Amino acid sequence: MKVYDIIVIGSGPGGYTAAIRSAQLGYQVAIIEKYAVLGGTCTNVGCIPAKALLDSSEHFHQAQQQFHLHGIQVGGISLDFAKFMMRKEEVIRQNTNGLNYLMKKNKIDVHHGVGSFIDQTHIRLDNQGQEMTLETRYVIIATGSKPATLPGVAIDKQRIITSTEVLSLPELPKTLIIIGGGVIGVEIASVYARLGTQVTIIEYADSLIPTMDRELGKTLVRLLGKLKITLMISSRVQAARNLGNETLVTCLDKAGVSQELKADYCVVAVGRKAYTVGLNLEAVGIRPETNGKIKVNGKRQTVVPTIYAIGDVIEGAMLAHKAEDEGAFVAEVINGQKPHIKYDLIPSVVYTWPEVASVGSTEEQLSEKGIPYKVGKFPYSASARARASMDTDGFVKVLTDPTYGEILGVHLIGPRAADVIAQAVVSMEYEVTTQEMAHISFAHPTYAEALKDAYLQASGQGAINI
Ligand code: FAD
Ligand code: NAD
Repeated sequence: MKVYDIIVIGSGPGGYTAAIRSAQLGYQVAIIEKYAVLGGTCTNVGCIPAKALLDSSEHFHQAQQQFHLHGIQVGGISLDFAKFMMRKEEVIRQNTNGLNYLMKKNKIDVHHGVGSFIDQTHIRLDNQGQEMTLETRYVIIATGSKPATLPGVAIDKQRIITSTEVLSLPELPKTLIIIGGGVIGVEIASVYARLGTQVTIIEYADSLIPTMDRELGKTLVRLLGKLKITLMISSRVQAARNLGNETLVTCLDKAGVSQELKADYCVVAVGRKAYTVGLNLEAVGIRPETNGKIKVNGKRQTVVPTIYAIGDVIEGAMLAHKAEDEGAFVAEVINGQKPHIKYDLIPSVVYTWPEVASVGSTEEQLSEKGIPYKVGKFPYSASARARASMDTDGFVKVLTDPTYGEILGVHLIGPRAADVIAQAVVSMEYEVTTQEMAHISFAHPTYAEALKDAYLQASGQGAINI
């Protein structure tokens, strides 16, 4: 029997990064994936398909609503929904092919089937009844997460569905109810509202994307209103039922009045839960916590020192790049290195249009901790680049230490915010001050310049660009 150095269970961003980094460090590696394709949630039913549909739907929306403003006349615009979905499938295929190539290139053995523990060094692989045993020195658990639901809401995957099904609907729905105005809720709402579906978001908190800086959520409420999305905030869903050809959702609205709403489909987007089903963790004495997550120490070791866990299945933000960072981290820990992840500098992005992006502390967090801060803010309505592309909604907000100018948090909602935030992460990682940032050359005209202007505002000098 071939004895591996490292077996990775799960091939999402956490698992495939752990496997590749381990192989780069010279280990004999195997990766086990229960589905027929590699890539996990992110590649197959998460980040990548969601972004493909967001891009296609934004083109459709632009063609209908904006092209004439540029002097472009196009008549008879219509949507081929089947092709819209097929393009997304092609994007997924290209990415899974890329992963297959990387596994081969790095000489990683790929095993398809469910992986489960026999003991600390033996893993059972069950590929639809065909079983084999693999031996290893270390195991990295990267089994990810699955959609969560609410009491009274049973997901049937037919009419009461999750992000997975809504990314592959057979037809364009006329009406859609989304329970949860978090990241998935607002991205899915954007896709379908742009295509003409009447979308209602029911959100329990008093704003959208409530875990981010509140000003972002408040601005997003206004901007998603432009897409004619009905927003029911401060509303609590009590039940959802499949009526056959439609769904019935009951909720208590802001005023505490019971409301009944009907729609073709109801999407449940109220968070995700760690996934450990089928791993037989009992065999190695690992007991998931009450929230289902696997407890790990600073080295991401479980209670068994040779078994590590990373990504959505452990504590922290459920983000692909967090899982990837932990994948590389664990491989390097096993290798005897001393890697480091700054969790408070992991950026968050929401791919609405305009995009939303954040890194570091929010105003609410600083106020709660009694940490003094200054605000430097610049609106995209004052940016020449944003005017040229007619993307003038939104702003950049920089939160800084009033004495030393250290950057404590950067929050933006605006065009290409997802890419602009990378620069803020670098400045915070290397503790560059706002004064220093304001002296660095930013190309003109760019969306990133708005960041420079916000730094200039925060440093007390005042903005100088347009
Ligand atoms: P996963 O990607 O969930 O992968 C786990 C893998 O393990 C799966 O393939 C599963 O089949 C496999 N597995 C489980 N148990 C076993 C077993 N016993 N044996 C073998 N295999 C097993 N994050 C971002 O950063 N940016 C985004 O834009 C973004 N968009 C998203 C959009 C949607 C709609 C969703 C649902 C999520 C999105 N996320 C995004 C979150 C991101 O997808 C996750 O944080 C990320 O996939 C977690 O990676 P992971 O490796 O921990 O787990
Ligand atoms: P989320 O935690 O972002 O949002 C869930 C929302 O549901 C919250 O706003 C919450 O207040 C609301 N909610 C909870 N109970 C409710 C109720 N009874 N009635 C109405 N609303 C209720 O979770 P999500 O949107 O499901 O996303 C899951 C994970 O996937 C997140 O951790 C996110 O990081 C990740 N994800 C990331 C991206 C991205 O990075 N762009 C995109 C999609 C998903």
